[in-house]
Amino acid sequence: MPKVIDDFVRMCSDGYRLGFNEANGGNASYRMTEEETDICKNELGFDRKSPLVKMNTEVKALAGEYFITTGAGRLMRNVELDPEGSLGIVQIDEAGSSYRILWGLKDAGPTSEFETHLLSHCVRKEASHGQDRVMYHLHPESLIAMTYISPLEDEFFSRAIWRSMTEAVMVIPEGIGVLKWLVPGSSDLARMTCKKLEDYRAVVWAHHGLFVTGSSFDDAFGRAHTIEKSASIYMKILSSGREILQDISDDSLKKICDKLGLKINEELLNG
Ligand SMILES: [Zn+2]
Repeated sequence: MPKVIDDFVRMCSDGYRLGFNEANGGNASYRMTEEETDICKNELGFDRKSPLVKMNTEVKALAGEYFITTGAGRLMRNVELDPEGSLGIVQIDEAGSSYRILWGLKDAGPTSEFETHLLSHCVRKEASHGQDRVMYHLHPESLIAMTYISPLEDEFFSRAIWRSMTEAVMVIPEGIGVLKWLVPGSSDLARMTCKKLEDYRAVVWAHHGLFVTGSSFDDAFGRAHTIEKSASIYMKILSSGREILQDISDDSLKKICDKLGLKINEELLNG
């Protein structure tokens, strides 16, 4: 398999093994580079005769682009056993209103969240000046647990995640967006997620999970993994019932970012 497919498969397998993607929970997509598209075209062969599928949304900013996506109803656990049955490569048409499956996705369409993914790609492609290519949705348990006992506010979650583990502010110096519970697959969820992605690379869906983006599989997966680890430390601290004697101060958070040349979101810090 081409490296980009192997890398995508590895993210799916890691997500399953870490308990982020049970059953058919979660989905992922990747906006391919031209070079990766050429390699896949040569090695896998693209089926140009597959029918165009009309979408409910229009994504002009992604016209002609190629994506790897997980399939509807497919299990992350099974992706490594059957990449061609679980994943697919699709191309958006020149109008940005239809897509065509070029490889994989045997007997399946793209994930039911595909249009949410595409709208998210539009937002992050612009916000990151073309850098962000991965969209990954997962069900991390500690972060979900947090959404039952915490105010559903960007500021609260950002500070709690930042302060629970030193590494956290390095992966989300801009903070984390938080949405109330919304129907999975709904246009409201897509619209509100996209709004948050204008400012953040990670969005919490209350009582449901997390949606992250990144420039590479390592970047996106690492962001999700670090956020969940920090959330799990936060929940362990609360569960201990002990008084917190010390934690990472605002000043320390700023120092971490200064050292790495990152810009911490001061609005969340001072709010
Ligand atoms: Zn989900």
